[in-house]
Amino acid sequence: MVRVATVNQIIPFSCVDGPGSRLVIFLQGCNFNCKNCHNPHTIDMCDSCGDCVATCPVGALSLSLSEVTEAVITKPRVLWDSDKCTQCDTCLSTCPKQSSPKTRQYSVPQMLELIRSQVHFINGITVSGGEATLQLPFIIELFQAIKASPDLKHLSCMIDSNGYLSESGWEQVMPYLDGAMIDLKSWQQHTHHYITGRDNHRVFISLKLLAAEGKLYEIRLLYIPRVSDFDNEINAVAGYLSQLPASVRVKLNAFQHHGVTGEARQWGTCSEQQMQQLAAQLSQRGVRNLVLPNVYL
Ligand code: SF4
Ligand code: SF4
Repeated sequence: MVRVATVNQIIPFSCVDGPGSRLVIFLQGCNFNCKNCHNPHTIDMCDSCGDCVATCPVGALSLSLSEVTEAVITKPRVLWDSDKCTQCDTCLSTCPKQSSPKTRQYSVPQMLELIRSQVHFINGITVSGGEATLQLPFIIELFQAIKASPDLKHLSCMIDSNGYLSESGWEQVMPYLDGAMIDLKSWQQHTHHYITGRDNHRVFISLKLLAAEGKLYEIRLLYIPRVSDFDNEINAVAGYLSQLPASVRVKLNAFQHHGVTGEARQWGTCSEQQMQQLAAQLSQRGVRNLVLPNVYL
C-alpha cells in the first residue's frame, strides 16, 4: 500500500519555521480545537459531503464518480482543480465542518520529487499543520527517505507541533528527527483546556523528552492578554523556561486577529508594549534566548 499524506499547503521557502531557509509542509487535521486558531480550516478532515461543490463560482470543485468493485463501493470524493481556483475561499465559508476541499494527497516519492526541485535553495524541511504528528507514519517514512538519499541527506528534518504526541510516537520518529518546535499555549491546565480543548500534561512530557534528547529547537508561547496566563504565572513560567537547555529558543508570539473566527475575535490583541513587558519579566527572572515578533499585525 502506498502511504500518502493529506496536505493543506506547501511553502517552498520560509525563514520562520526553523533554522535557515526551509520548505514547509502543512498537513491537514488537528487534535486541538484552539479558539485562537489562525487557520481553522486545517483542523478537520474533509468527508467529501459535497456541500461546497455547487458554491464554487468558477467550477473548480467537483465530485468523483463512485468506484464499484466486487468487494466495495467507494463513495464519491471531492476533487479540487487548483488551476481553476481563484482562492476566493467561498468553499471554506460553506463547509459545515470548517474543513477545506483544497487539499492534495502526496506519496513519499512525490514529496521527495518536490523537495529535490527546491534542494539548492533550502537548508531543510519542516512538517507543520494542522497538527503534523497526526500523520506520523508518513513523516517517519519521508524523513527516513531523506536521510537515506545521498542528494538530500544534508537537509535537516524538523517538526512543528502542539506537543500532544505520545512518548512512543516521539521515540519512533526520534532517530530521523533533527529538531522540534513546540507550542506551550498556557501554563495552567484549565486555561490550556479553555483555549485548546485539551489539557497540557502531554505537552510538558513532550518538552521534557525532546529537551533530554537535545532535539527541542524552540518552545513557542502565544501571549493573549487577559486570556493566556503567562503573566499571572510569571514566576512558575520563568522557572520552567530557565531550566531548559541554554540552546532552546523561547519564542514569544503576540496574539492577533488574522484568520481568527468565533469568540476569540472579541479578545484583545497583544501590542508591542505588552510583548516587551512580558519579555522583560521573563528576562529579569533568568530566561535566556528570547525571540520576539518582528511585526504586530
Ligand atoms: S477557493 Fe477556489 S475552490 Fe474554493 S470556492 Fe473559491 S475558487 Fe472555488
Ligand atoms: S470541504 Fe467541507 S463542504 Fe466541502 S466536501 Fe469537504 S466536508 Fe463537505
